Order: sequence, then C-alpha cells, then structure tokens
Amino acid sequence: MAAVTLSNLTKSWSGITAVNDVSLVVPEGQLVALLGPSGCGKSTTLRLIAGLEEPVSGTVMIGGRDVTKLPPSDRRISMVFQSYALFPHLTVAENIIFGLKVRKVARAERDERLKKVADIVELAPYLHRKPGQLSGGQRQRVALARAIIAEQPVCLMDEPLSNLDAQLRHEMRVEIRALQQRLGMTMVYVTHDQTEAMTMADTVVLMRKGQIEQAGPPAELYTRPATSFVASFIGAPAMNLVPEQDDLLGIRPEHIGLGQGPDDAVRRQGNVISVEYMGADTIVSLATPESRISIRLPGASQIRVGDRLTAHWASSAQCRFNARGQRIN
Ligand code: ADP
Ligand code: MG
Repeated sequence: MAAVTLSNLTKSWSGITAVNDVSLVVPEGQLVALLGPSGCGKSTTLRLIAGLEEPVSGTVMIGGRDVTKLPPSDRRISMVFQSYALFPHLTVAENIIFGLKVRKVARAERDERLKKVADIVELAPYLHRKPGQLSGGQRQRVALARAIIAEQPVCLMDEPLSNLDAQLRHEMRVEIRALQQRLGMTMVYVTHDQTEAMTMADTVVLMRKGQIEQAGPPAELYTRPATSFVASFIGAPAMNLVPEQDDLLGIRPEHIGLGQGPDDAVRRQGNVISVEYMGADTIVSLATPESRISIRLPGASQIRVGDRLTAHWASSAQCRFNARGQRIN
C-alpha cells in the first residue's frame, strides 16, 4: 500500500499556478525528496499533502484513505519546518511532548515515549534546557524529536536543514536518513539542495514550474536525465550541454578527457577560462565557440588559464536532447 498518493493535484492563486496537475506515489517506508529551484512548487505540494492548503482539483490519499477534505490533525502526519517553530519559553522536554499533551496522551505514556525519543536523537542531557540554550543542530533535533514522538506513519519535512552550517548539514542528513530507515518512516522531504536529495532519497522528484520534470532513483536522474533541465540541474558542476545542429549533446565533466583521444571520439577545442582546484580533483572550464565545457580531472593539474586545449569524449558516454529539451537517446 502506498503511504501517500497524489492524483492530478492542482493549486493556484489568482493567476499563479503553483502546482500543476501533479501525480505522485510515495511508497511506504521510502524517503522521497521534492527537489527543484526556488518557486517551483515544492512547499505548496508538501502543504497540500499536510492539509495546510486546499487543492483546486485532484486528490491526496494517505495510507489508503482519501484525506483531501480532512484537516491536518486528521491526516496522521507529522511535520518539520525550516524554522523549527519551537516554543522559546518551554523546555526541550515540554516542546517535544507538546503535541502529545494536546492530544491528551496519559502522563506515564508521554514520559516513556519522551525517554525513548530523547535517546534516539541524543537529547537526553538537554531535556531541561530552553531552546535558546541549544546549538542550531540541537534545536533541529528537538524539532525532529517532536515529529518522531508523534509516531505518525508519514513525516513531512520542508527544508529542515537550511539554517545550519555546511558541516552540521552533512551530519544531520546522515542522521535523518538513518533514523528514517531505522524507524521505517515514510518521509516526503523538500529541498532545493541537490546534494541532500541525491544522498538521502530513495526517489528524487525534480520539479519545475509546478510540474514533475522527472522522478526516479538518484542514479537514474544522474545517468539518464529525461530532459536538458534535469541534466543541467543535477551534478556539480552540472552535465555539459554542447550544441550540435538543432540538438544538445549532454556529457558529464568526469567523462571528458584532454587531447585527441581515440579516432572515433567526439572533440571540441577551446581556451581555458578557469581552473578550480578542489583537492581530490580539478575542474577546468573551456570556452569553445558554441558553449562552455567543464572537465573534471583527477588531483591537481598543470593547466593554466589561457591554455588552448582539445577535449574529447566517447559518443557512448553522451546523451542527446532535442530542441524542446527532451532526451532522444
Ligand atoms: P518552492 O517551495 O518550490 O520554493 P512554493 O511552493 O513556495 O515554491 O511556491 C510556488 C509558487 O507559488 C511561487 O510562485 C509562489 O510565489 C507561489 N505562492 C506560494 N504560496 C502562495 C500564496 N499563499 N499566495 C500566492 N502565491 C503563492
Ligand atoms: Mg519552499
């Protein structure tokens, strides 16, 4: 049974269509990431699942029930937002059990669940502090704990890590993924950060202008982008898009070599416009008459800005998009 099923979901405000005929199945126990540029409709989709917005048309099913007309409290979901939305005057413990109190869960059960959840998110030593006395990561864990303690089958997260620094974001995304798998939660996770989506999700749903551009396992979006938009969104640097007559050739930076290569290789010539040393590899950017080409070379490189180079790749490593951006091979 699918945990969440969206069918032909549309939401618009006077003139703006934020979500346009979106259909999506989130299988039970999976983490599905909604990814895409700012304004593409990720949060609106999540809010429609939560019941915080009402669709113009379409349906939301959760756990086999049509919940389209139900308020958030009847949908059996928990939510974590970017702004943790903690009560500053309540302790960590009180913040975590707040929802249970509202739902009149008995004290003994509350205490037991609190103890278990505090261990899971490693907050046991901090239960008597106020949120103001915690680090950003600890506050984020309180928000997580509040979602976990609810023991709802579906957890919705909207950019939960964007307020954290890079190091902590990395730790938290590993933690959230581990928790989600350990507890068997179904999670819909909104992010504009492709690294989060690619590293955490079972399925990445890339959105563009209120619609789903491609949905699939991370490796599928990376190796078989359905459109030139997907190709240019996923990867850092993204897939190169090299014009050839009316088409675009898509080639990943790591699949390009320097020099003439084998006889049947595809080649482009250009001038080096930047050399970025990243430690494990170096990204060289080449300006050719038609486009820029990024090349990923292992380790350090002797190449200098201004050098004239030939880049080559195997035609088997490239994909081809037509003028409308659809992949045609
Ligand atoms: P994302 O989360 O992907 O950045 P949103 O779902 O927040 O995007 O927004 C999608 C589009 O809907 C944007 O153009 C946004 O301006 C518009 N939008 C979102 N909420 C409202 C609202 N309450 N009223 C009017 N327009 C809105
Ligand atoms: Mg958003």
